[in-house]
Amino acid sequence: MERTLVFLKPDCLQRELVGEVIGRIERKGLKIVGMKMMRPSKEFFRTHYGHLAGKPFYPRIEAFMASAPVIAIAVEGFNAVEDMRKLAGVTKAYEAEAGTIRGDLANSIQCNAIHASDSKETAEKELGRFFKKDELVEWRQNNYDFLYSGEEK
Ligand code: ADP
Repeated sequence: MERTLVFLKPDCLQRELVGEVIGRIERKGLKIVGMKMMRPSKEFFRTHYGHLAGKPFYPRIEAFMASAPVIAIAVEGFNAVEDMRKLAGVTKAYEAEAGTIRGDLANSIQCNAIHASDSKETAEKELGRFFKKDELVEWRQNNYDFLYSGEEK
């Protein structure tokens, strides 16, 4: 089973889309194993967005991320990393496919509603950044015995 790190961005909270986005994650059959509201520091985001910290638009990202809390979610599933990237849609929300979270609910590069880790390696690092071990909760979905049985990637 894979785990990935998602967070709902300030625009998602400001536009009251939290329930809508969490609903899409649940309806996909993904399991939420951790969730919390946070107001991470500038330094925290500078680490998280290290690959963009040298870009001219980085100060805008920093200001946007500080404009409201985020909701961090640890998501588990058979193919959770790819599932969440597909559910999220591409970075430029105005180019994202209809049916995706960004495609349906956002229209901007920066204010694109959701973050989802881009690989298994990144997911592991990001889960460790956002959650302490004891904040991740083991539980069993009641249809688990019939899910993924004998399925291979
Ligand atoms: P993704 O979030 O799809 O993994 P990136 O890692 O490239 O994409 O970018 C991280 C976030 O930084 C984006 O989701 C977006 O909020 C913001 N961002 C990326 N590129 C730009 C840009 N050119 N202008 C403003 N914000 C940007």
